[in-house]
Amino acid sequence: MAVENYQVMQSGTGRPVKMWTHGVPVDDGAKLQLQKMAQLPFIFKHVAVMPDVHQGKGSTIGSVIPTLGAIIPAAVGVDIGCGMIAARTSLTANDLPDNLHGWRNAIEKAVPHGLNFKTRDKGSWENTSSHVDAAWAQLLPEFEQLTVKYPRLKNTNNHKHLGTLGTGNHFIEVCLDEGNNVWFMLHSGSRGVGNAIGTYFIELAKKDMQKFFINLPDKDLAYFPEGTPHFDDYVQAVSWAQEFAKHNRELMMQNVVNAIRAITPKPFEAGIEAVNCHHNYVQRENHFGSNVLVTRKGAVAAWPGQMGIIPGSMGARSYIVRGKGDPESFCSCSHGAGRVMSRTEAKRRFTVNDQIQATQGVECRKDVDVIDEIPMAYKDIDAVMRAQSDLVEIVHTLKQVVCVKG
Ligand code: 5GP
Ligand code: MN
Ligand code: MN
Repeated sequence: MAVENYQVMQSGTGRPVKMWTHGVPVDDGAKLQLQKMAQLPFIFKHVAVMPDVHQGKGSTIGSVIPTLGAIIPAAVGVDIGCGMIAARTSLTANDLPDNLHGWRNAIEKAVPHGLNFKTRDKGSWENTSSHVDAAWAQLLPEFEQLTVKYPRLKNTNNHKHLGTLGTGNHFIEVCLDEGNNVWFMLHSGSRGVGNAIGTYFIELAKKDMQKFFINLPDKDLAYFPEGTPHFDDYVQAVSWAQEFAKHNRELMMQNVVNAIRAITPKPFEAGIEAVNCHHNYVQRENHFGSNVLVTRKGAVAAWPGQMGIIPGSMGARSYIVRGKGDPESFCSCSHGAGRVMSRTEAKRRFTVNDQIQATQGVECRKDVDVIDEIPMAYKDIDAVMRAQSDLVEIVHTLKQVVCVKG
């Protein structure tokens, strides 16, 4: 049995908040947000907090929220199904070219990413491939069911966003593990359509609260009670967006592999070890003998033996982990290092030179627009890993050599 490593924060009349944050900073904004969350009468047992915790929009990033009889759309947020996929290849460090610029270029060409200034679109296909079309055909029937009732979710770009990265903190990396094996790893979610679903249902829940005169410690805690049509619709929509996100990551991974195959003389295998995990999602799970809804907002499932991915930052190490299945954490772990300062704060404190220093040896952007992604804007990933040593064991340690940001 693992030795428990959490501290308990009481929250008045609410449920306890159990925090795996030994040795890592926790901002006051996050603590307050967590205490409000813990007041909700339908929280099951307690809220679990991972070491990458920090204040989020709507709800706290790095939290695990088990609920019984209700669901909170803003707890999942608008980045539904955001997560990571990683694949080990049969290539090793010796197979890498001396200059990795060509690899970065090939990846950037293979996966639409970032903002297209011409169309103001956040990276969509001009022409979709048969892979994308096939994945979309699988997703479409259920989406059409949803749009009968919620026509506002329809957008001609939904199909064109499948297999694309998005903007901001979403990234694609080439990494080396402790044995010099080459890995591909990427971070993205359900793109525009997930955002539309999240936004729509968050507003709907807020309106419902007003309609039924329900006062909450925070508007973002608006919920749908189980047994109502909105609850069922949201569960269907959010589950669909999570499926979209999984397909999205798989398609990008395929394209990255194909792009590198096209420029690498040596044939190679990919997916020798593979993990695809959400870190922003809700699903039904069994805990302590009860069937509960578990929302992981910036947290990863860590059931006994289950593999997960914990990225560090642009310039720090990342980890492939195996869950220990700690019941008190609702079988979870962190989804990253977690921010220690806002993007604005990072841009104020650091310069392009700092960014160049911090990302030495990494083929990546080093311009003014990625200063807010500097490793120093995140917690120390090693401290984060120590704080959750009872939740996961480290299987692989990855260090990026190429990083493409959205
Ligand atoms: P989020 O999903 O909350 O935006 O980010 C997840 C985590 O990814 C962050 O907490 C951070 O630790 C990590 N991260 C952010 N940018 C990068 C990057 O460029 N490379 C890697 N490996 N990790 C990153
Ligand atoms: Mn995301
Ligand atoms: Mn994410």
